[in-house]
Amino acid sequence: MKKIVLSVLVLFFASYVYCADVSQIIRVGVITDTPSVNVGGSASFSIIDNSGKRYNLSQGMTKLAYSGGQMLLGKNKLALPIRVESAKGLVYAGKTAYRGYILISKTANNKVNVVNILRFEDYLKGVVPKESSAKWPLETLKAQAVISRTYAIANMGKHRAQGFDLCDGTHCQVFGGASAEVPIGNEAVVETAGEVLTYKDRYAQTVFHANCGGHTESPKYVWGWTDIPEYLEGVRCKYCSDAPYSAWETALDESFIRQKLSKTADIGEIQSISPSGQTPGGSAIDVIIKHSKGETIMNAYKFRLTIDAWRIKSNTFKGIKKQNDKFFFVGNGWGHKVGLCQWGARGMGLDGKNYAQILSYYYPKTKIEKVSYK
Ligand SMILES: [Zn+2]
Ligand SMILES: [Zn+2]
Repeated sequence: MKKIVLSVLVLFFASYVYCADVSQIIRVGVITDTPSVNVGGSASFSIIDNSGKRYNLSQGMTKLAYSGGQMLLGKNKLALPIRVESAKGLVYAGKTAYRGYILISKTANNKVNVVNILRFEDYLKGVVPKESSAKWPLETLKAQAVISRTYAIANMGKHRAQGFDLCDGTHCQVFGGASAEVPIGNEAVVETAGEVLTYKDRYAQTVFHANCGGHTESPKYVWGWTDIPEYLEGVRCKYCSDAPYSAWETALDESFIRQKLSKTADIGEIQSISPSGQTPGGSAIDVIIKHSKGETIMNAYKFRLTIDAWRIKSNTFKGIKKQNDKFFFVGNGWGHKVGLCQWGARGMGLDGKNYAQILSYYYPKTKIEKVSYK
């Protein structure tokens, strides 16, 4: 389930103009600000420092430690940046195997960053199984590959100031290196090679979430966007009804809720919490909190994030009741519900729909276009 949870997190996009020529290489920050790193190879490998000194090592791991302004390999002093490469196999940084090579460079605060430099299409092979599930249909994974490619290209250079393009966490999108690859994920990347989603000559903002509970949501009600692209206005979805947390309920202590809310508002003992207003997707717009110090109205999505986004899976409430010292929340769907519904994309794949149909269902009026690599 961890993989799905990761995708619940919001990916923020800038709306960049579509460009046919894209760099075929990507630099991914995989370990940042570390004083030492274990590197290695699945076959014989080499460590080459900035002065051109080369150390050839046999398969296995070795430690590089940065101390007193010096990078040390045993007793040897190495000049940064350092390249770790293997002509015959994969390279390792920590416990993860990577394609391409590893570059280690100094950071501003006297530590090092470990960056995996590899072919952009190979990078996606380490993303698709982390952002989706290898147990899902190929067409669903192909839709994910197009989404992840679009996101990465539109956000290339987000970490330029740190000397790499994207990080490997949920801040950008999760990348697990060659260690994360699975055959069906690789197939999804290869079969959609170079394909991205566009809308009016710009990269589409390919936001996604775990499951919508029956209707996807407009970002207007979630993030307060004012200029909503028509492909994100929200669609009915009948494909995710068997998703985990398609319907959910949770019980939270009144004191727990009060303590969380008191970080943003002056809240007394809570008597009731009521959903207020309804989005076209069926979610609450606000919640009204009646308490001993008065009444507080809060955006329902913000309320969910403030209390516990893990326990309260969405702000599509079917009921909120108080019993003794507990509040019982009943709702459906999981995540912010904007863009593609991942469990719905799985359902469409199982239903025999292809990836182009899946993408045009959740992002209507977008186009699949092909970039070329320079
Ligand atoms: Zn990042
Ligand atoms: Zn759905």
